[in-house]
Amino acid sequence: MALGMAELPEVETMRRDLEREVVGRRVVCADVAQTRMMGLQTAEELRQRAEGGTFRSISRRGKYLLLHLDGDDTLLIHRGMTGNFLLRDPGQPLDPHVHLALTLDDGRQLRLCDARGFGEVRVLASDDVRVLHRRLGPEPLEPDFSFDYLVAQFGRRTALTKALLLNQHLVAGLGNIYVDESLWAAAIHPARRAHTLRAEEIAALRGAIVDVLNEAIERRGTTFSDYKDLYGLPGGNGAHLRIFHRAGQPCHRCGTVIQIIRAAGRGSSICPECQVL
Ligand SMILES: [Zn+2]
Repeated sequence: MALGMAELPEVETMRRDLEREVVGRRVVCADVAQTRMMGLQTAEELRQRAEGGTFRSISRRGKYLLLHLDGDDTLLIHRGMTGNFLLRDPGQPLDPHVHLALTLDDGRQLRLCDARGFGEVRVLASDDVRVLHRRLGPEPLEPDFSFDYLVAQFGRRTALTKALLLNQHLVAGLGNIYVDESLWAAAIHPARRAHTLRAEEIAALRGAIVDVLNEAIERRGTTFSDYKDLYGLPGGNGAHLRIFHRAGQPCHRCGTVIQIIRAAGRGSSICPECQVL
């Protein structure tokens, strides 16, 4: 199930599509079903704050999608494990498990569908958006995710490298797929203690993360089972994964059979020859 989790490239693909499709559009009707995805917010409050609003911009922070409305409110969406956010033309049949349906002034409908309901959806005021920004670590594709930043963070921590990369307070937006891909590209074992990484390994890891994410965004993300883009289509990155979900197949670098081990509480794909503990 965790295979469907959207990470930075999938959310960024969604952000770019939404920016093109819905900025300037007004929400004429918001149908909201109460769900645990809303936390303490009621469906009625969400409906009132979303209805009548016009989307003025779309941003992303880590794995969070932020749809900024005119006025002070922002619709926050985190897709959890199985969530999809779909843009449907008028008259298209209903989708199952719709928690939120926003009808736009051009008749199209944005639908948040989630069979398991592990995601998050709510309307935030700008103060709450600022809190979210502060709570998360730097964006890996922004300049503050620098070599010096990583050296400072890794140098004083004995945690496993993989655990640090999955920690959203340290760097925002990475999950199991792209952490495994980046560690393989940098030839670092996921269970290496962070403070044991040499400077050149940290530099290689940083470069690998940036390359892996940019390539995945170019291919519109990775789909295993659940993730679909705004148009209900799968991403194209799955066939290009070098290590993740390739257990039993040969490593592209050395031919050794790829294994799955447990690291940082997660199943982790490694090449035991390229990634030595
Ligand atoms: Zn290898």
